[in-house]
Amino acid sequence: MSTAVRVALPVPLPTLFDYLPPAVGQVAAGQRVLVPFGRGRQVGIVVDAAATSELASARLKPVLQVLDDAPLLDAELLRTIGWAADYWLGAPGEAFAQALPLALREPRPLPDTVEEYWHLTPAGLQERASGRRRGGSLALLDRLADGPRQADGLTAELPDWRSAARRLAAAGLVERCPPPASPAQPRAPAGPALSAEQREAVAAVGEAFGRFQPFLLDGITGSGKTEVYLALIEQALAEGRQSLLLVPEIGLAPQTLRRLRERLGVPIEVLHSNLAEGDRARSWLRARSGEAKVVLGTRSAVFTPLPHAGLILVDEEHDASYKQQEGFRYHARDLALVRARELGVPIVLGSATPSLETLANAASGRFRTLRLRARPGATRPAPQVQIVDVRAQHLDHGLSPALLTAVRETVARGEQVLVFRNRRGYAPVLLCHACGWHADCPRCERPMTLHAGQRQLRCHHCDRRAPVPSHCPACGAGALWPQGQGTERLEEALGALFPEVPVRRIDRETTRRRDAFEHLLEELQQDGPAILVGTQMLAKGHDLPRLTLVAIVSVDEGLHSVDFRAGERLAQLLVQVAGRAGRAERPGRVLLQTHHPEHSLLRTLLASGYGAAAATLLAEREAVQLPPYSHQILLRADAHGRGDVDAFLAAAADALPADPEVQLAGPMPAPMPLRAGRHRGQLLLESTSRARLHAVARPWRLQLGALPPSRRVRWSLDVDPIDLY
Ligand code: ADP
Ligand code: ZN
Ligand code: ZN
Repeated sequence: MSTAVRVALPVPLPTLFDYLPPAVGQVAAGQRVLVPFGRGRQVGIVVDAAATSELASARLKPVLQVLDDAPLLDAELLRTIGWAADYWLGAPGEAFAQALPLALREPRPLPDTVEEYWHLTPAGLQERASGRRRGGSLALLDRLADGPRQADGLTAELPDWRSAARRLAAAGLVERCPPPASPAQPRAPAGPALSAEQREAVAAVGEAFGRFQPFLLDGITGSGKTEVYLALIEQALAEGRQSLLLVPEIGLAPQTLRRLRERLGVPIEVLHSNLAEGDRARSWLRARSGEAKVVLGTRSAVFTPLPHAGLILVDEEHDASYKQQEGFRYHARDLALVRARELGVPIVLGSATPSLETLANAASGRFRTLRLRARPGATRPAPQVQIVDVRAQHLDHGLSPALLTAVRETVARGEQVLVFRNRRGYAPVLLCHACGWHADCPRCERPMTLHAGQRQLRCHHCDRRAPVPSHCPACGAGALWPQGQGTERLEEALGALFPEVPVRRIDRETTRRRDAFEHLLEELQQDGPAILVGTQMLAKGHDLPRLTLVAIVSVDEGLHSVDFRAGERLAQLLVQVAGRAGRAERPGRVLLQTHHPEHSLLRTLLASGYGAAAATLLAEREAVQLPPYSHQILLRADAHGRGDVDAFLAAAADALPADPEVQLAGPMPAPMPLRAGRHRGQLLLESTSRARLHAVARPWRLQLGALPPSRRVRWSLDVDPIDLY
């Protein structure tokens, strides 16, 4: 036993590590330290500066260096991250690594949060005019001639500028300077006068400022949820408090950022994984210093330090992208709830289609529900949804006569149409009409998708690519037929049917470049008819004011999935896609093609709306004790050999202590038993008691890595998995 410094290191081991205090200086929880690890060194976070180690001090190595003067993580974040590692059964070091921007995981002092600018001194101006300087010095003098320049920009143009800057600074010709004052923020224009429902929602959350209270803001698409967020952020700003707004995907939310910027008139820090690492670290540090009053970010922004926290908002709380699906598998919405509790602030979960988990929490009274039932401004009624029964209908590339007529009428009025199909590529299957052979991925045993533009077959599970055969490899016939429709095929078909109307496809292929999607969205703000063909990328919160018809080509796959969440997902997707129609002055219309017009989920959804459909789905889950009425932990394993997977899962099942309150399902093959050439299997732990489930899983998890067959498989644990794949 000895006194030690306990450190979280970014390694996938389920423990913290003990070290002796550094030879010089003090160390405190939340600071970064450099420590010896294996044969190298690692940067870690001190979790406990005065821990009692089981190991004798002679066996401990000392901390090499304390990297921060003050703790980087405050007590609240340390606690919350520790809680998260325990709850999602992650390696604590990986949870901490997740919380820190990459640039802060390096053994370097913190970057300056003030951006680095350089300018010419008066002497430097004369020197440039004198024409005495040559080479790198002259190049730098020239770059600074028009005023201060930012260091990153200089590096991009003159990779060696720093050596010239050193020479010239020594001669008093250039110097570092404060960033030029950003153009005065335009006086924020006032938002629309809030409706009564919106005012009630704002007042209810406003009353909870200063204490923890979770709210569900259940408002139909276009009901003005974002206006409620804005009003609440303004209120927090007025009290000098920070707000954190989480959105599912930053690439899809430039409109939200623009609205925040225009309205709030304060700098907004943005945090997401597409940022340059330096920028991300600076934003994070500005939040930590309290300078940043509003933080907008995706999943990982839930770890932003908020020393003056006032409010947390989670937009589209049902969105699956809040769940991290690899490494440390946390759920940002659930973690946001824990943070709000630890910070003592209200949290608002907003959605037009709340998750069943959240609805169950609302029903039990844990969350208070605030409703927005109307679209403000009576000129914008909610769109009407109509089923198109396509049984025995003649279909033109999957499009029924009724759908095509509606498209024709809409574009004739100069309005825009969204043709929705959640399948990329030309056709999901390439079939031999002579013998029935179809192109399968040998590594996944699933059909490969035909991509006509690239003349390729692609596996959407492992990204394997293959040329399109000209003849059937099985029978040699030349009768290979594309079966079914993807967005690429619909784009082609609609382009041929409506040659005078621009047809734009929006899916992962057409928007690969970072700003391509934004450009497309901007183009669609213009006047004039257009036909959009898109995947679920378009289902999320975009304002497309000229869109008046949404035509859903098919959802039938979603009606027959084995996943118990498929019904919930389908209902959410349909409502979100339908919500794209008629957001401006013009009324919207939604057509839904199906071969199953009598399906009860579709019926309920159309007749009574999402709330009723969700209530039905919840009752079904309760009847069979599925989440949220029970809790699950999934152990996944994969390996090249099926035998290795089976051996590991069998050993894991044996190692699980028997508990009458915890049910074990499996070992069993995964719903996709082969993927990218690896065999996959799983074990599912279920219990109606979360506490019992964790009590069993915690010690079990520590054993898994020590099971001999574990060395030949990749395995992971997923707490509250959102799919079983
Ligand atoms: P949601 O986030 O619920 O989809 P938004 O906040 O984006 O809804 O609002 C949808 C549209 O309605 C936006 O164009 C917004 O400016 C407008 N809007 C919202 N609230 C009001 C209001 N009280 N009066 C007039 N227009 C409003
Ligand atoms: Zn054939
Ligand atoms: Zn594959």
